Formats: sequence, structure tokens, C-alpha cells
Amino acid sequence: MIKLPEPVEDVVVNLLRLANTKLPMDVGWALEAAAGWETNEIAYTQLGAIMDNVKKAEHVGRPMCQDTGIPVFYVRGRFDSTIAGRIAEGVKRATANIPLRPNTVDPLTRENCGSNLGEGMPIIHYIPTDDDFTEITVLPKGAGSENMTRLAMLNPADGVDGVMRFIRDSVLDAGGRPCPPSIVGVGIGGTSDVCVSMAKEALLTPLDDENPDPVLRKMEEDLFVALNGSGLGPMGLGGSTTVLGVRIKKAACHTASLPVCVNIGCWATRRASARIRDDGVEYSQGVRL
Ligand code: SF4
Repeated sequence: MIKLPEPVEDVVVNLLRLANTKLPMDVGWALEAAAGWETNEIAYTQLGAIMDNVKKAEHVGRPMCQDTGIPVFYVRGRFDSTIAGRIAEGVKRATANIPLRPNTVDPLTRENCGSNLGEGMPIIHYIPTDDDFTEITVLPKGAGSENMTRLAMLNPADGVDGVMRFIRDSVLDAGGRPCPPSIVGVGIGGTSDVCVSMAKEALLTPLDDENPDPVLRKMEEDLFVALNGSGLGPMGLGGSTTVLGVRIKKAACHTASLPVCVNIGCWATRRASARIRDDGVEYSQGVRL
């Protein structure tokens, strides 16, 4: 059992504060790069407004978007069965103290418990390893982008072309609703549930990380060019910055299946991670699961 130097509840509050008030550096750099190449005046103004908002949020320590999302957690390393309750307590405290918008409701009655908890919350994915640390990662996911999630169980005969077409169409059909410029998370393969999980996990991969798989890397590059050539632009108002990046993960699948899922991250693709060791906690926003 690891002796935790800082209560997990406090670490979770710190993580949610960091994720909501400070955009990861790689996303900020991508926005700046886009402003450098954007020639459409409206798009350039939109990118400027987004970057200005990001700077102000960090400066005053307030969330960068009113939709502070639903926190999705990933716990990796060594942990015990108390971790879920401690993360839940951290979410409750963060909602009251930062504050975060209480977003979670019962899906049918729409009753809001006010603390971003409720049945099945918070969402926690567990990745046990033999490492000598506990790593907690949070991805606050807003509804505007989450509602644009698309899963297709393609016919294997559709092949790479069919996969590319589905990803392109999903992003373009979403239009301005996921608050572009977006980061496109894609899962290919697995079963339907694994595919959906991979698409969201893909959003955690920093934009400056090179995909180690050359086939996936080429698909990411081709989609980046095609989507930015679509003319959709920031907030769907036109321009050449529709996406900041495309991140793809894959897993083996049944010979008769070809699942593909697209999970879009908005310009406010937020993430933060804490690696807890015996001698302290290290926070970062460049998460690799
Ligand atoms: S999609 Fe993102 S930027 Fe748009 S409202 Fe939701 S959280 Fe905010």
C-alpha cells in the first residue's frame, strides 16, 4: 500500500482547478499556430477571442468555459478500493469551491444533485499496473462536443477509405456545435464499447506527440489537411482552422466487425494529471495513458 502524501480529495480539487483554468500547452500552441496561418478575417478574430479568453481565465483563476463539463477520470498505477469514494469527495468539494457548474442530472427526471455526482458518477476508468505511483488524470468533457459523438459499426469491406469517410463526415456534420477548432479523437476496432472508450482516451494524447503507428500517423495527417481544407473554420463561421489535431487509437477487432468512433474535443480540450508518489505529487497537463 502506498502512503499518500497529499489527500486524494485535495489532489482531485487541484486537478479540476488546473484543468478548468489552464489550457494544456500543446493546445495553446496549436491555437497560436493556427492564428499565424489563418487568412480568413472572421476566423482570425474568433481565434483571437478564444486565446484572449484562455489568458484571462488563467490570470484570474476562473474556468475558461461556462460548461465545466463532466469530469472523466483515469486512475493508473497502484490504488486500493477507497480511491473511488475519495475522488467523488474531491469532485463534490471542487464543485463548491472552484466553483464548477453542477452539470450532472438524472437522465429521466433531469433532477440535479448539485454536486456533479449522482448515480454512476464520477466516471472512473481503472488501469492497474505495478508502478510505484498512483496517477489520476481528469478530462472534463463539455456537452457541446460530447453530443457530437458518433459510433459506426462499419462493414469490414468499407476498409480504410470507409473509415476516413466516416470520420470526415462526422466532423463536418457536427458543424459549429462542438465549438471548433476541435481535436478529433478516434477509436478504430475493439468492440463497440472499447471503441467508444478509445476515441475519448485519444483526446488525452498531446498534440505534439507523434503517433508511433505509421499507418495511423498518415491517417491523422491526411484528416488534418482534409478537415482544415473544408472551410468550416473556428466556431463553424468559415476559415481554414477547423481542427487543431486528429488523434487515433486502435485495437484488434472481430473479423466480421469494423467499429469506428469519433469523439470530438472542443477548443477547450482540458486535461490534467497528477502522479502521486511517497514523496510528493507531480502535476502535468501532457497526459499519456
Ligand atoms: S463545447 Fe467546449 S467550448 Fe463549447 S461550450 Fe462546451 S465546453 Fe465550452
